[in-house]
Amino acid sequence: MNQFHEPVLLKEAIEYLKVKPGAKYIDATAGGGGHTFEILARGGKVLAIDRDPDAIAHIKNKVKSHFSQENLLKVSKSKVKNLEDLVLAQGNFSHIREIAIKYGFKKVSGILFDLGVSSHQLQDVKKGFSFQKDSPLDMRMDPSISLKAADIINNFDKRRLNEIFENFGQEKLSRAIIDAITRARQIKPIGSTWELAQIVQNVYKKRGVSGKINPATRVFMALRIVVNSELLNLKDALPPTIDLLAKGGRLVVISFHSLEDGIVKRFFKQEERLEIISKTPIGPSRQEILTNPRSRSAKMRIAQKI
Ligand code: SAH
Repeated sequence: MNQFHEPVLLKEAIEYLKVKPGAKYIDATAGGGGHTFEILARGGKVLAIDRDPDAIAHIKNKVKSHFSQENLLKVSKSKVKNLEDLVLAQGNFSHIREIAIKYGFKKVSGILFDLGVSSHQLQDVKKGFSFQKDSPLDMRMDPSISLKAADIINNFDKRRLNEIFENFGQEKLSRAIIDAITRARQIKPIGSTWELAQIVQNVYKKRGVSGKINPATRVFMALRIVVNSELLNLKDALPPTIDLLAKGGRLVVISFHSLEDGIVKRFFKQEERLEIISKTPIGPSRQEILTNPRSRSAKMRIAQKI
């Protein structure tokens, strides 16, 4: 697997943001900095927000090495020119209004959300997002979140687990998986990503059901959404973006889950101060899916402040 985060729909997102030199932009999900650096390269000023302190530290380091004496001689002039054009902020985008005001990004030309997790987070063993490597069942994007995935798996009753797996994972074998989880946790708490993945995989194996993706994928996604309150944060973040956008400013949202896309679609429709630019959502090209599997389920919607 690629160890770096490959930005999804990079060219398209930048094109729809219509980046102009000197104008201000908010990247609400900075991640590995893919989109942020592209906006900077085109002369835009960026407020880059991420709730994961590791993401912010990663971008800080990238910028530092980019501006190191040695590199300055090598880097082409067309790339990032001014350090002052980038402001980094660790925080939840559900507080986008307060963060933007604090850093002087009150009226901006564009706001980008590229939702979900980054490849850095998936590959970071201590974060526990992935069943590819054995790690503690955690899944918190921000270490200040109080509930870990293991707390949910070991303490929630059957009804609540079922709501989570069915609503957020569209998991068809939810009840059978929950029976297996409750049996296992009676013996000892489920503590690692592999343990949970094994339980789910065994349920599928017993039923003789197989598919293209790992059967644990949906359960893991559902837990991640709940641990990080992903849908609630998105619902809170969208309304304040309207006041932050200047007239003609663009709001670009890339989502990876039908429930997220539904929230964006309904918000765009109901908000009178927005003109919808993308009548249907924009997805990745066949080429991008081949080179970057994370883009598989991406949907991008664009609107413009009237
Ligand atoms: N566009 C980035 C990748 C973004 S991945 C790039 O090209 O490199 C999604 C990022 O959004 C992750 O780093 C995650 O920590 C962050 N994120 C998810 N929910 C968030 C929230 N509520 N507030 C702030 N950041 C969030």
